[in-house]
Amino acid sequence: MSYSGKTKNLGIFGYPVGHSFSPIMQNAALQAAGLDYAYIAMPVAPENLKDAVAGLRAMNFRGVNVTIPHKQTVMEYLDEIHEDAKIIGAVNTIVNDAGHLTGYNTDVIGFIDALKDKGFDPAGKNAVMVGAGGAARAIIWGLLKENIGSIAIGVRNMPKVQPLVDYFQKYIDIKLYDWNDSNFKDELRTADLLINATPLGMTPKTDEMPPVDWDCISPSAFVYDIIYTPAETLFLRTARQKGCQTLNGEGMLIGQGAESFRLWTGVKPDHNVMATALKKMLYAE
Ligand code: NAP
Repeated sequence: MSYSGKTKNLGIFGYPVGHSFSPIMQNAALQAAGLDYAYIAMPVAPENLKDAVAGLRAMNFRGVNVTIPHKQTVMEYLDEIHEDAKIIGAVNTIVNDAGHLTGYNTDVIGFIDALKDKGFDPAGKNAVMVGAGGAARAIIWGLLKENIGSIAIGVRNMPKVQPLVDYFQKYIDIKLYDWNDSNFKDELRTADLLINATPLGMTPKTDEMPPVDWDCISPSAFVYDIIYTPAETLFLRTARQKGCQTLNGEGMLIGQGAESFRLWTGVKPDHNVMATALKKMLYAE
C-alpha cells in the first residue's frame, strides 16, 4: 500500500520493541481491509514515556499498542481507563479520540475468544491454571466474565501469588496450591480446563513443562497453553497424547491484536490474514 498525507498513524510503544510481531500482523490486516493506516514500532525509553504519550495527541496518532515495560506505568498519562484494563492493572492498547486517550486491555478478549472459537464454553466449568504471573490477571478476569464455576491455581511460590488471589476474592474464591502439593492432584482430577500460564516449554527450552501429574487429567479436559512458540509445547503434546483437546497461544496473540485493530478502526480484521503474517515470523527458520 502506498501512503499519503491522509494516512492515519498507529504503532506500538515498547523498550525494546524490535522483537514485536505487531507491525507485521497489523499492517497485513490493514492492507487486506483496504484501510489507509500505517503501523510502526517505536522504541520508547521509560524516561520518555510521558512525552511519547503527549506526542500521540500532538501528532494526532489514532492509537498505539503498549508493551513491556510500559503496560502499567502508561496508565497515569491517560484520560480514561476501560474496566478490563483497570481490573488487570495494565493497558496494552490506547485509542486517541481527538486528544482524549483511553486505555484498554485486549488480552482478556484475546484469551477468551480463542477458547470459545474452539467450542469451549467456560460457564460453570472447573478451571485449573499452572503459573500465575503477568498474563494471569487477564486469564482470570476473562474466565470470571464468562461465569467460570471454579478456579484453582498451582504455583511454585505461593506467597508471591497470594495478593492476586486476594484481589479476586470479591468475585470468586480462588484456591491456591503449591503445585507439588498432593492436594493439587484433586483439582487436576476435576479440571475441565487446564491452562499453562508459565513460560515453561517455550522456545528454546522446549523439553520443559510445568509439573502436572498427567494421570490425574481426564481425556475430556480441554488443555490450553498460552505459549505460541513452539506451536505445540511438550505440555500440549502430552495432553494431545492423552486424548485431550488442545489449544496454543497463537489465537490469543492474534485475538488481542484483532481487538486493538477493531478499537482503532471500527472494523473487525481478517484473523486468517493476521495468522498467516504471524506464522511467517513465528515459525520461519
Ligand atoms: P511470567 O510472569 O514470567 O511467569 C508466569 C508464571 O510462571 C509465574 O507464576 C512464574 O513464577 C512461573 N515461572 C516462570 N519461570 C518459571 C520457571 N523457570 N519455573 C517455574 N515457574 C516459572 O510470565 P507471563 O508474562 O505471565 O507469561 C507466561 C507465558 O505466557 C510466556 O511464555 C509468554 O510468552 C506467554 N504469553 C502469551 C500471550 C499470548 O498472547 N499468547 C500473552 C502473554 C503471555 P514466579 O513468579 O515464581 O517466577
